[in-house]
Amino acid sequence: MTAATERQRPLRPLLFLDVDGPLIPFGSPYPPPPAASDDDGNPLLARLDPGIGARLLDLGCSLVWATTWGEEANEVVAPRVGLPRLPVLGLPGESEEGRGPRGLHWKTRPLVAWADGRPFVWVDDEIGAVDRQWVDAAHPGPALLHRVDPARGLQDSDFRTLTEWLGALGRPS
Ligand SMILES: [Mg+2]
Repeated sequence: MTAATERQRPLRPLLFLDVDGPLIPFGSPYPPPPAASDDDGNPLLARLDPGIGARLLDLGCSLVWATTWGEEANEVVAPRVGLPRLPVLGLPGESEEGRGPRGLHWKTRPLVAWADGRPFVWVDDEIGAVDRQWVDAAHPGPALLHRVDPARGLQDSDFRTLTEWLGALGRPS
């Protein structure tokens, strides 16, 4: 591909992905399985869906971890769900803590900065009204803040919503 065609091709939307809640539901109706040998001592890892990585990749976005797991998401979560190593949204430094209005999630400012105007999806169970207001005001491009029910994790209905939104991005309004 030449530099010219690279320039003409729009960047893929970003998808910022949380782990606890969307990928590891808290309210699993199933009892935890008997202690597994490769769960790194964390029984919640048994709740990860090994097929969900492929579904996320099929969305056609550039995936970014946005989780307190940090780099451990690449080491512990990615191989269990079929995802490659992904870039990681950094945790806020001490100087950044507490900046922004009360109720703003720690991820909101850095992910808007990361996106830098590029369309993005944020999949998380902790998105609130303040985050939506912040993104509306601070992000000039399209953004979908998609809150997942942490009791259930990412469901077919969530994927439908994401697919529809992403599909509409490419269509003239
Ligand atoms: Mg979460």
